[in-house]
Amino acid sequence: MNFELTLTQQEIQQTTRRFAQEEVAPLARETDESGEFPIHLVKRMGELGFLAATIDPTYGGSGMHYLSYTLISEELGRVDSSVRGFLAVHGSLVSLCINDWGTEEQKQHYLPKLATGDWIGCYCLTEPNAGSDAASMESTAREEDEAYVINGEKIWITNGGIADVALVFASRDREKRHKGICAFIVPTNTPGFHREPMPGKELGHRSSSHSHITFNEMRVPKEALLGQPGEGFKVAMSALDHGRLGVAAGAVGIAQACLDASVDFARRRRQFGQRIGDFQMVQATIADMTADVEAARLLVYKAAWMKENGLPTTRHTAVAKLFATEAAARAANEAVLLHGGRGYSNEYPVERFYRDIKGLQIYEGTSYIQRIVIARDVIGREEK
Ligand SMILES: Cc1cc2nc3c(=O)[nH]c(=O)nc-3n(C[C@H](O)[C@H](O)[C@H](O)COP(=O)(O)OP(=O)(O)OC[C@H]3O[C@@H](n4cnc5c(N)ncnc54)[C@H](O)[C@@H]3O)c2cc1C
Repeated sequence: MNFELTLTQQEIQQTTRRFAQEEVAPLARETDESGEFPIHLVKRMGELGFLAATIDPTYGGSGMHYLSYTLISEELGRVDSSVRGFLAVHGSLVSLCINDWGTEEQKQHYLPKLATGDWIGCYCLTEPNAGSDAASMESTAREEDEAYVINGEKIWITNGGIADVALVFASRDREKRHKGICAFIVPTNTPGFHREPMPGKELGHRSSSHSHITFNEMRVPKEALLGQPGEGFKVAMSALDHGRLGVAAGAVGIAQACLDASVDFARRRRQFGQRIGDFQMVQATIADMTADVEAARLLVYKAAWMKENGLPTTRHTAVAKLFATEAAARAANEAVLLHGGRGYSNEYPVERFYRDIKGLQIYEGTSYIQRIVIARDVIGREEK
């Protein structure tokens, strides 16, 4: 067992850290306040090879290992979850899914443009009445001649307002539940595709573009199918397997940022004539955060290593996401407290981390759902 990053991995980590610190972090507070996604960063991430990190160079990808992808997600998560969330959806949920399930023609058509950021992707699974229970989706795909006609509604779609390409899930036979679901690759300028911002102001991820999308008699050719008819649920779940790894790595980034900010503050802030970092209660908090960060990072690296080696990772990515997001939520909670009144204001980034982390516990399967995924795998289903 080797716990050292390779030279290439160290370089990727350094490049991402520089980009994150120099180009992403300075904008994070402003974009959080304005709610505007810093779209110019998309092309920059394309130039740096982040957008199609693990995809083969034949399709414009960087051919990186999954561990390198987690390093990128961690460094971006450390400064801005909206930018890291963009990457998770665009790179993992959309591009990797096309890479895994697409025909040669689909891969050649979509992947290179997604890799450069010329096209942006979004992933349309969640509906008003189908969230955790995605198989109960109400969107339908009706077969008509050589086409499918899609009707339905999706909510909370990250990148929805800026996407050029949407992965859309709809059922051709709702009685069959998950076996009736089909996946489609749909250009967002297809007639019948309508999008608008989600109502309300989000708790966190405030610069992300979250959309409410409706499909009204949206006709797509049969070639738009990703995978076979009825395989859409498998496509959706495989995407989440990839996506959860990036979310877990992003959570490690948030936890590390909370730890860094807390250590820095504990060294500088003085009360009762000494540094607050010299009080044992503050030390215990920082020690717990340190242990959490280390443990979460190792779980993420292990899941990445397993993915790289072609091993089944559903349980391990769920464990990594569950533990890392809960650890980061604890870290953010403590970091705000440790900063006292200052932690309650967006003058310090811990306030944003505290809000953003809630999203990571919810999307791509809530913490409850991760527990279900893990327990089902560990206990197994009863044979009937
Ligand atoms: C910031 C953000 C970005 C998102 N981006 C996307 C996106 O790009 N694409 C997309 O398709 N969706 C996206 N989503 C939607 C997200 O995936 C869903 O919100 C999530 O899966 C939960 O679904 P729901 O909101 O309908 O909650 P529900 O499924 O209604 O769950 C409500 C509560 O019930 C619990 N629950 C449900 N079932 C069970 C069970 N069997 N056992 C125990 N507890 C259970 C849940 O854990 C939760 O606490 C995003 C959400 C957010 C907040």
